[in-house]
Amino acid sequence: MVDGSLNKMRRYFESGATQSYSFRKRQLEKLKAAILKYEKDLYKALHDDLKKSPEESWVTELGLVLSGIRITVKKLRQWMEAEKVPTNLMNLPSSSYVMKEPMGVVLIIAPWNYPFQLLINPLVGAIAAGNCVVLKASEYAPATDAVMEKMIGETFSDEYILYVQGEGTKVVPELMGRFTFDFIFYTGSTAVGKIIYRMAAEKLIPVTLELGGKSPCVVESDADIKVAARRIGIAKFSAAGQMCVAPDYVLVHESVKEKFIGSLKESLLRFFGDKPESNYNYCRIINEKQFDRLAGYLKDGRVVYGGRTDRSKLFIEPTILDHVSTDAPVMREEIFGPILPVIPFHTMEDARQVIKRNPDPLAFYVYTSGTRKEKEWLSSVPAGGACVNNSGWHLTNHHLPFGGRGFSGIGHYHGKYSFDTFSHKKAVMKTPTWFDPGIKYPPFKGKLKLFKRVIR
Ligand code: NAD
Repeated sequence: MVDGSLNKMRRYFESGATQSYSFRKRQLEKLKAAILKYEKDLYKALHDDLKKSPEESWVTELGLVLSGIRITVKKLRQWMEAEKVPTNLMNLPSSSYVMKEPMGVVLIIAPWNYPFQLLINPLVGAIAAGNCVVLKASEYAPATDAVMEKMIGETFSDEYILYVQGEGTKVVPELMGRFTFDFIFYTGSTAVGKIIYRMAAEKLIPVTLELGGKSPCVVESDADIKVAARRIGIAKFSAAGQMCVAPDYVLVHESVKEKFIGSLKESLLRFFGDKPESNYNYCRIINEKQFDRLAGYLKDGRVVYGGRTDRSKLFIEPTILDHVSTDAPVMREEIFGPILPVIPFHTMEDARQVIKRNPDPLAFYVYTSGTRKEKEWLSSVPAGGACVNNSGWHLTNHHLPFGGRGFSGIGHYHGKYSFDTFSHKKAVMKTPTWFDPGIKYPPFKGKLKLFKRVIR
């Protein structure tokens, strides 16, 4: 069944139907209309899966995608244009340009934490670049998966965009084993990312891997502590910490540690109240497996805020951990939940040694009011992206590339970067026939001096 569908997609792509500007633009507009049509269903599904409020769902899921569509439609014609580049002396009077060619039939695989946005946002780039697309959402957000399947099936023909459901461990190897995709865009854990990379390598398929990791947050002695606590608090505990760019842990200068913890407690109380289990703004953990893993971390330090859990409701209170050993599991694995270790540091070098234990984070955050410190921190911690006096929001600016490095991923997307990611850059040189100097052809003997002058 899948074989037949994929071969049909290949034929559809090869027919050239997806290539024109007008086709791509129309599909983006259809996608936008479909999202608006299913807006309420998506809110309900995201609430069923993760207890996300419509407001949070708009900011982090639907709204983000719709604004991506808006700027893509606006800029598409310009992005599709071939880019003229200069031509070097030895090739004159040729002219040169870079053509943006669709990759072909591409596979997009998404995780459960932002189940809508992380599947549909890459789809925007894939459509814009003229590809046919197979979509595979996470099976762990089943309500959102069901709405998206209906929405996509109703909006696009399955020879153009095919929505595939099922367990990743079964479905993805089957798809990748039977069909040679032209590109794979994967978002999820580093462990599964390695499996995808290995399968892709067998067929030399290019990949973008958007992975996870432990994103550190540094609070310097000269930081505005109240603001830092508020911004770290919201970035860490929205989606109950199940966000790829959530601050994983905080390294706070020892001189401001108590003040920071005090401010953070105040902020958390204001955001989620004293009964976060029934608070409108607070999400739940996705499933029992994740709940058990997270609950296990609570013993890795002293709970100074939160710490209550309820497995039947998949609830873990926003929790601050103090006195955490850097050897404890909570400091060795990506937390991906509402537990925040706060670790004091004395010197910058001490803090850097902690960060180096989990290199190449997806994001790095530094809170400071000193420009020199800011520069020093930014240039000494390799990371996918970074914020100064902020956490997580860099990913909502579509003018910035979003992606990891090393363990946190390969490649990037958002805005024009998405279009580029899903396009092959074909280098083209056009040479007129009226000039064909003999120097380029044998016999070469005696031409060395001339070659040295032209090629340098
Ligand atoms: P996951 O790796 O378990 O699953 C992601 C996708 O891969 C799902 O669609 C799943 O069905 C599929 N899959 C699972 N096992 C597979 C296998 N053996 N072979 C092929 N496919 C398989 O990730 P998750 O638990 O859904 O998501 C959490 C992780 O994703 C965290 O590490 C988080 O940091 C990361 N993440 C990264 C970003 C980013 O943009 N960089 C965004 C969100 C989440």
